[in-house]
Amino acid sequence: MKKLENLDQFKSWAKEAGFIYPSSEIYGGFAAIYDYGHYGVLLKNNIQRAWEKSIVQNRNDVVQLDSGIYMHPKTWVASGHVGGFDDVLVEDKKTHKRYRADHLIEEWFAKKGDERSMDKKTAAELAEVIKTYNIKSPEGNDITEPRSFNLLVKSNLGTTDATFNDENVTYLRGETCQGIYLEYKNYIDTLRLKLPFGIAQVGKAFRNELVARQFVFRTREFEQMEMQYFHKPEDKQRLFEEWKNERMKWHIEEMGISSENLRFKEHDKLIFYATAAFDIEYNYRTLSGFKEVEGIHDRGDYDLTQHAKFSGEKLDYFDQETGERFVPHIMETSVGLNRTLMMVLEEAWTEEELINSNGEKDSRIVLKLKKSLAPIKVAILPLSKKPDLQAKALEVQNMIRKDYMTQYDETASIGKRYRRQDEIGTPYCVTIDFDTLNDNAVTIRERDTMKQERIVITELKQYLMEKFNI
Ligand code: ATP
Repeated sequence: MKKLENLDQFKSWAKEAGFIYPSSEIYGGFAAIYDYGHYGVLLKNNIQRAWEKSIVQNRNDVVQLDSGIYMHPKTWVASGHVGGFDDVLVEDKKTHKRYRADHLIEEWFAKKGDERSMDKKTAAELAEVIKTYNIKSPEGNDITEPRSFNLLVKSNLGTTDATFNDENVTYLRGETCQGIYLEYKNYIDTLRLKLPFGIAQVGKAFRNELVARQFVFRTREFEQMEMQYFHKPEDKQRLFEEWKNERMKWHIEEMGISSENLRFKEHDKLIFYATAAFDIEYNYRTLSGFKEVEGIHDRGDYDLTQHAKFSGEKLDYFDQETGERFVPHIMETSVGLNRTLMMVLEEAWTEEELINSNGEKDSRIVLKLKKSLAPIKVAILPLSKKPDLQAKALEVQNMIRKDYMTQYDETASIGKRYRRQDEIGTPYCVTIDFDTLNDNAVTIRERDTMKQERIVITELKQYLMEKFNI
């Protein structure tokens, strides 16, 4: 059994199989942006749906929001992003390849078995480390002085080019949660929410990542699934533990990730807003080890206090039971949809050796996805292109397509079609053959075991319902 080994293999497979394409290929490509193909979209939707189900549908205390990508530019001054949302860059003096200074130093130490973290260090602090240890680029060349770059992506929305300047600049949101803080007051006033409650949002975020050579793990346009939980300050400890456990459970149970491939990592240096922070990390083989997929942050009262200060609006909460007025604290869970998708694909991707029907050694790529995440749930495969088989196959498809995402495929040999479906993770293939026309039965093949059984068409719906546990 083989797994994906490196990013090049991952990228070319994801493209071939119709999940992820590099952006703008006909123009020679566009760095750090990817397009999701048919199966990628379906998988991404299923992951998003699983998140919404766990965070919103299965609870009584979390509601949803879809805020604009653009917000008043003061938002980003208040949030601290205009002043302090920086990455530090160094450049190899010979090859001119750019690196994030913290990552380059961490990798330099890691090669010596030293796991020290450079997270959130300033350019000056990183420069000091580079000097002290005489750190070079991975190619062994000298590197430039570290320089800070702001990650916010600027835009001229609402301004003509001639008058565009630093005063009227607008930003594409660097994180989705700011939209939640701006709507907090409306939610309190119109939905009459009582603490503790959460507001969840899924949407695009944009960051001018300096170095983005990690496939969909780090892109300049990406999607976040964020939940901000507003609570009384004294509940902080308990809630932090509860959300940590809840989120780890989701990755294991709903995303189908084995627990050995996941771990918590506590931040040793906190970003400006956080008072406690843990990441959930996944062991990405193709990125050579554990990397962040989700952040769980105790943001305290930082965000609401800042927005109250900059907007002049009162953003406190009146507790009717105690008669107290205070600014709620916020617990955040923030998971990248694209990083989750990459994790799910890596975990599920398997190449198996097997013996084919001619008794020869063969192999297949199979995506062992949880059934609930599979892009296509049932493939409909007429054994030949004969019109009466086609008609029967379409009849079967029409019977189940209301409840399941299906795919009709009549091209190539049946063996090849099974392999195609294995590769995109389809749990069940339904084959319509010549006997079907007489006995009104079909063959169902299961993805992981490759076992086949014959079922009468009238029982197919019930069979699938049991298998998909609806
Ligand atoms: P990193 O340290 O890897 O840059 P971060 O700590 O800045 O990530 P957060 O600001 O906590 O990330 O964002 C929450 C989540 O959003 C991350 O856990 C990740 O899954 C996702 N995310 C952040 N930046 C990117 C990106 N450039 N591309 C894809 N996903 C991202």
